[in-house]
Order: sequence, then structure tokens, then C-alpha cells
Amino acid sequence: MITNTPLLKKKYRHNLVIVTAPSGAGKSTIISSFLKKHPDFCFSVSHTTRQLRPKEKDGKDYYFLSESEFKKKVKQNEFIEWAKVYNHYYGTSFKEIDRVGQKKKIILDVDVQGSLQLQNQFEALYIFISVPDIATLKKRLIKRGTEDKSSLNARLEMASKELSLKNHWKNIVVNDDINKAYSEFENIIKNFFSN
Ligand code: ADP
Ligand code: 5GP
Repeated sequence: MITNTPLLKKKYRHNLVIVTAPSGAGKSTIISSFLKKHPDFCFSVSHTTRQLRPKEKDGKDYYFLSESEFKKKVKQNEFIEWAKVYNHYYGTSFKEIDRVGQKKKIILDVDVQGSLQLQNQFEALYIFISVPDIATLKKRLIKRGTEDKSSLNARLEMASKELSLKNHWKNIVVNDDINKAYSEFENIIKNFFSN
């Protein structure tokens, strides 16, 4: 659900990179390497109602909150966009975009449906991170060890649908070899911002 594209259009249109991927494709890995090398970019930390994973930090990976707190923020119109993905709520707040966007270019993590809606409404750099196949995705998610069986299955089921939509993206990075995928990701961003 996108609640305020005019604000995004007006203030941050030229500064936004919107990254989308099926869960486990390697989005966080690639984004965090990129941010280490490029201090002129900053990650927009989303809000989520899902549980914090062992290696995650509140305020760094996400702002973790309860479902009732999330719904209160929706009512108070605090989100630029939000969605229910794999049974949990995720959203990008105005406050966060302003915090990040005042000084730096913004990297946003948005689910496939949300990103498709955004693509229809305004220009930004949209990147889809893909995988060679679902079996690879499954292996990675199992190895990461963050999902219980039901969450793992929900993510894999959703991944097939998400991958079938990837041709809506002009910029697709297939994350097979991580170094190659990282270089492709970095080059796409460099090219976009050098034009
Ligand atoms: P996402 O943020 O898209 O859900 P992650 O970045 O958490 O995905 O990656 C999922 C798992 O796969 C992590 O354990 C990560 O270390 C691993 N991983 C990422 N890219 C590769 C790759 N190219 N080859 C093998 N493992 C990878
Ligand atoms: P995860 O639980 O694996 O961190 O993320 C699950 C899904 O939520 C991913 O598809 C991710 O792109 C999406 N997501 C994360 N933050 C946001 C957000 O602020 N808005 C939307 N629409 N999706 C998000």
C-alpha cells in the first residue's frame, strides 16, 4: 500500500535505489557490502512486526514493533508505503526517509508487489536480485537457519511467484557467485548515478 508518492517524487526521486528480491536471494548480503564501500548511501530501516533474528539489531536491520503499534502508525499515516509479506507487516516511514535522505542517497528494501506498484508511479533505480533456481534459495534459507518450517515453506512458495514477475525489472542481478553479483549490483548503481 503506497500512501504518499507525491512526497517521494518531490523530495527524493533522484536519490532512491529500490531493491527487491525473494527471501534468501542475498539482498541483505549485497546491500551491506555495498554500504561499507559507499558512505554516500544509507539504508532506509523499515518497520516490521516479525521477530528479530539472532544476528539482527533493532534500529539497524529493522525497527521491530508489535502488530498493534504498527497498525497505530498506519492509522496515523506515518508510512510512505507498507505491506503484509509472509504474514508480517513491513513499512517505510516518512521519518526514516527524511532521516536518511537529507544527507545521503537512499537504499530501500521493498517486497515484489510493493516495488511493482512503485514502478508504476515514479522513476527511481529499481533492482531485482534473483537466484539461479528455487533449490538454491532453499539451500540458502536452510543454511541461514532463521526460519521455522512454516515460514520457510511460505517464503519458498512466494519465491516462485516473485521470480515469475522478475521480467518487470530492467535491472536484474542473478546472485550465483557472490563476487560477480556484487560487481553487477555496484555497476548498475554507478551507471545510474553517473548519468
Ligand atoms: P535476503 O536478505 O535476500 O533474505 P541474505 O542476504 O540473508 O538474503 O542471504 C541468505 C543466505 O544466503 C545468507 O546466509 C547468506 O550468507 C547466503 N548467501 C548470499 N549470497 C550467497 C551466494 N552467492 N552464495 C552462497 N550463499 C549466499
Ligand atoms: P525479511 O523478513 O526476510 O527481512 O523480509 C521479508 C520481505 O519484506 C522481503 O521481501 C523484503 O523485501 C520485504 N520488506 C522489507 N522491508 C519492507 C518495507 O519497508 N516495505 C515493503 N513493502 N516490504 C519490505
